Amino acid sequence: MRIVLVGPPGAGKGTQAAFLAKNLDIPHISTGDLFRANISQGTELGLKAKAFMDAGDLVPDEVTIGMAKDRMEQDDAVNGFLLDGFPRNVAQAEALDVVLKAEDMQLDAVLDLEVPEDEVVKRIAGRRICRNDSSHVFHVSYNAPKSEGVCDVCGGELYQRDDDSEETVRRRLEVYHTQTEPIIDYYRAQNLVVTISALGKVDEVTARAMDALKK
Ligand code: AMP
Repeated sequence: MRIVLVGPPGAGKGTQAAFLAKNLDIPHISTGDLFRANISQGTELGLKAKAFMDAGDLVPDEVTIGMAKDRMEQDDAVNGFLLDGFPRNVAQAEALDVVLKAEDMQLDAVLDLEVPEDEVVKRIAGRRICRNDSSHVFHVSYNAPKSEGVCDVCGGELYQRDDDSEETVRRRLEVYHTQTEPIIDYYRAQNLVVTISALGKVDEVTARAMDALKK
């Protein structure tokens, strides 16, 4: 299966993507994670991306599209993938169509996670992520780790992303509305969009998403 996950920052895309990719046995490809890995390794690509990410803006397409394409062309992705955070604007969606067409492939679904805006801000402000594995995500009140600052899964240190500050979150939401939301209409025209509510417990949302994808 080839799936695109869309939703505002804080919708739980990363959390859901990790579970869905596992259930569907396809790799979870997150452009945000790829950028963060490049930043922590100090690569040139990471240096280019960092200032845009810290400001809550999109990293330019010429950097992002090549990076996403390289990842989609790796061996583990031949039978499908779950894209989390890519595409994030119509130009990227068009570039993805070109990549897929060249391989005679198609998307199966675009899963749109819906969540009210005030909930988004609460979720992001309390979000804590494991330094060892970004799919280990906690929340200081909704999904608190057993021991403060320590990942329940692997014992790694939990941290708050630099771009999870309130000011940057507001900018990321604005970018989402102006640049990313238009891809939902782009994919609606291809009859690919399934919208589900991202409210509720993590496993409830995963079950909802799996049901929607089966249809
Ligand atoms: P995420 O982890 O998906 O929330 O992404 C964090 C940040 O990485 C975003 O706010 C952007 O600055 C950058 N980013 C991730 N994916 C993309 C993309 N497809 N296009 C441009 N920038 C991206």
